[in-house]
Amino acid sequence: MNVTVIGTGYVGLVAGACFAARERNVTCVDIDARKIAALREGKIPIYEPGLDKVVLDAAAAGHLSFTTETGPAVASADVVFIAVGTPPSEDGSADLRHVANVARAISPHLRDYTVVVCKSTVPIGTCDKVAALLEKNNPGADYDVVSNPEFLKEGAAVADFLEPERVVIGTPSERARAVMTRLYGPYVKRAGGDGTTAGGEIIYMAVRAAEMTKYAANCMLATRISFMNEIAQLCDKAGIDVEHVKAGIGSDSRIGPKFLNAGIGYGGSCFPKDVQALLRTGLDHGVPMRLLHAVEDVNRDQKRLLANRVAARLGKDLTGKKVGLLGLAFKPETDDMREAPSLIVVRVLSARGAEVVGYDPVAAETATDAMGDRLTIVDNWQAAVVGVDAILVLTEWAEFRAITPAELAAATSCRLVLDGRNAWEPEAMAAAGFDYEGIGRAPGRT
Ligand code: NAD
Repeated sequence: MNVTVIGTGYVGLVAGACFAARERNVTCVDIDARKIAALREGKIPIYEPGLDKVVLDAAAAGHLSFTTETGPAVASADVVFIAVGTPPSEDGSADLRHVANVARAISPHLRDYTVVVCKSTVPIGTCDKVAALLEKNNPGADYDVVSNPEFLKEGAAVADFLEPERVVIGTPSERARAVMTRLYGPYVKRAGGDGTTAGGEIIYMAVRAAEMTKYAANCMLATRISFMNEIAQLCDKAGIDVEHVKAGIGSDSRIGPKFLNAGIGYGGSCFPKDVQALLRTGLDHGVPMRLLHAVEDVNRDQKRLLANRVAARLGKDLTGKKVGLLGLAFKPETDDMREAPSLIVVRVLSARGAEVVGYDPVAAETATDAMGDRLTIVDNWQAAVVGVDAILVLTEWAEFRAITPAELAAATSCRLVLDGRNAWEPEAMAAAGFDYEGIGRAPGRT
């Protein structure tokens, strides 16, 4: 089966490599010539655990290649994935420029029956618009446009793709459904040697329902995060440890334990833009989406929380003060800085005159690109905590969780720790002499 993936970013590269790992013949296309040249030399442009091996193995086996030439890659394909970015426009709606550009670029090259798949996160009706563009530019071409939203998590993307909890496919025809079923065969429910099954199921639905499902999923997760952040605020006022509340509700099977961490807000390339886009879709359909407005408001405030706490402790004018940041990426196991809470923290602290120094296990380069000289990046956590007036935890990397209070105390004379990810235990930090404050937790709480 020949598969072409257009857009070789976080989603396109993972999808292309993982299809190739199951012996589909995959061509990954991108307009970024430098990215394609690097990939051809075996250099992986993003940090994603396990991805380098999957890419290099599949390329060495002859199942994966990279090109900037859309035409030949489309002409030979049974399935063409559109996996380009859909960033927010000024009004919050998803900017579909890149998707439309791809539709226009592929249309003249469609030969025999081709399934064109929107893997990008796109609003309701986008697949119909892609089909209209294909029809306009290549009347009578034989194709179907399918919605197959992606649910991988950055940081665990390869495992998520190779063994998905479910695959959502919105198809307009039985013919397209048969092709997609064959394509995803090796990734969904199959028997293991021990009688267990691995992978989830394919959930088939209408194209527009699949488009909607992706937004509903991300907005539900964003809602859980903002909900827990509000509960944490209440815990702070009422002297309660939010971790106890989390354990108490997470054990309820109707609620479940995941996505209940209080913190400094959601970031990344998906939740912020997808919440905004669904708000816009609601507006277009006359549905006010009041809950989602609140989710966004809470998140906006939450991202500023640590900077405000620094000001409350050290004063609004931070001239002459130095703040050390542990973690910069929007979450652990990725170098993705898009919409990371650290961007807000650094902007506010540096605007108030603070000198800001930060360390991240993998995001040094992307953080430098994103923040330039507002932030001094250092090579290890010890350098980020020495000589500072406050230590802030912004990303819950395992490396930081593993630092014991005694090790931290030995590495710095600073005793103010504002933990935005509840990476450490309040009592242990207090016992080591730290003035420690987490999100919805602090020493001495019950
Ligand atoms: P990305 O920015 O990492 O990658 C997009 C790639 O598309 C870039 O390399 C860009 O150069 C390329 N591109 C743009 N226009 C092109 C064109 N005309 N022809 C060929 N290549 C082109 O984006 P991403 O994070 O991979 O996200 C892609 C889509 O998947 C978005 O809609 C996003 O919402 C969705 N998504 C992302 C994730 C995630 O975790 N990143 C998860 C699920 C869904």
